[in-house]
Amino acid sequence: MTEATVAGVAVDTRHWIGGERVGSAETFADVSPIDGSVVAHIARGGAAEARAAVAAARAAFPAWAATPPAERARLLHAVADGVEKRLAELAIVETTDNGALLRSHLRGVMPRVAHNLRFFADWLTDRLGHGDFDTRGHNNHVSWDPAGPCVLITPWNAPLMLATWKIAPALAAGNTVVLKPAEWTPLTASLFADITAEAGLPAGVFNVVQGYGEEVGAALVEDPDVRRISFTGSVPTAKAIGAAAGANLTPTSLELGGKSPLLVFADADLDLAADLAVEQYDNAGQVCLAATRILVEDSVAEEFTAKFTERAAKLVQGDPRDEATGIGPNIHAEHLARVDGFVQRAVAAGASVVAGGGPNEELGGLFYRPTLLTGVAQDSEIVQEEVFGPVLTLQTFADEDEAVTLANDTRFGLAATVATGDRDRAARVTERLVAGTVWVNCFFVRDLQAPFGGSRHSGVGREGGTWSFDFYCDVKNTVTAP
Ligand code: NAD
Repeated sequence: MTEATVAGVAVDTRHWIGGERVGSAETFADVSPIDGSVVAHIARGGAAEARAAVAAARAAFPAWAATPPAERARLLHAVADGVEKRLAELAIVETTDNGALLRSHLRGVMPRVAHNLRFFADWLTDRLGHGDFDTRGHNNHVSWDPAGPCVLITPWNAPLMLATWKIAPALAAGNTVVLKPAEWTPLTASLFADITAEAGLPAGVFNVVQGYGEEVGAALVEDPDVRRISFTGSVPTAKAIGAAAGANLTPTSLELGGKSPLLVFADADLDLAADLAVEQYDNAGQVCLAATRILVEDSVAEEFTAKFTERAAKLVQGDPRDEATGIGPNIHAEHLARVDGFVQRAVAAGASVVAGGGPNEELGGLFYRPTLLTGVAQDSEIVQEEVFGPVLTLQTFADEDEAVTLANDTRFGLAATVATGDRDRAARVTERLVAGTVWVNCFFVRDLQAPFGGSRHSGVGREGGTWSFDFYCDVKNTVTAP
């Protein structure tokens, strides 16, 4: 089988290598989390497909690297045009594949995909190449040379958005790319390959291989011809990739998990704080940045909890294609069992269930009720480990010092959110937090110019703006005598 029709959209289920569709002897089933139906059978790549894709990217590299930046930018804008033209199709296919809300895909995520492409295309032409300075009459000229074939490995929670956040700067900078999307959400990467071809991207500049991480993914990251690996996903996978990359000294960017805190001080606008807390159930809690540990100052804990539970109770759970739905299904039965395992172990260890606490039995399938647990110990699994589901914990603190200590006391450091009415406090607390991004009285405001990434086990390196270009380029300094 080489093609599937998903929500009325034809999707080629083979790899995209060197500008051609390539099949594999074996396939794997792609299941929709909305109703458990098999929507497609996808080519199951292995070492041979990985090798072929890297070879194609390598062959295409010299010509693409030599293509004038303005022409590369023009082609990336043409790809963005294609994304916008097929936005509705991309949105419904992505929703079918990963269960996230259709309205978010239509109005937030897919427009962002096009924006990712346009932003990095423009950044390339507007901002790079301004690296001249003088040393005792000698001119230093800094240039950003493309590095070579890049392997991009992405997760299932925001498949095309996260992929284009890597694809756009890598291609803009003159590299060629092999994308390996997550096996639970392979579809929009395939549609994106069609869009790049329609836009006129030369063969081999952008390639997609499908399959399991342990098979085709592992083969890609071991390939010595790969000059950059950019990975978004979990900590255990990052360690495996880091080890493979280390063997070839391949520079690697790692965007990993989190266990981010939301600090609610007594001087905060508690309605806003409760809104921010409920927002953490977005995408059924499958968001790396989610502030899953709510830390509330003792004196307002009761009032905050009342406001939170009132809002959480109003969240409509159901079909992600319905406009009224606020929370959809989780991605996969295996993942749901993992999420529930965390909750049940926490309850067995003494946690109290304030909201939710288990699968939504009325809806069945992969729907997990938005859950809030209290009575959790700081060193417990539920506080320390990333659940990646609609599960929040609530702890209280006595003062600023304790708030910061609790906030920083995990092995992660991706993000933090601070709710306070006192700007001085916000500045003091922010300075002490270990996090790649801190939001004060807001959440998820993200500018593509800003550095994005995590400290400690939340990642290595930063993406965004010039940080992306630095990663995808071999930066060179040329010193010329007077
Ligand atoms: P995962 O690590 O299981 O898989 C991610 C990707 O890695 C998939 O494409 C998978 O096929 C591939 N992979 C698996 N084993 C591999 C191997 N040995 N070699 C090469 N590739 C391999 O993660 P997931 O479950 O898909 O995603 C959830 C995780 O991603 C969570 O921890 C979440 O926090 C994290 N995440 C982080 C960010 C961020 O920007 N920091 C964004 C989204 C998700």
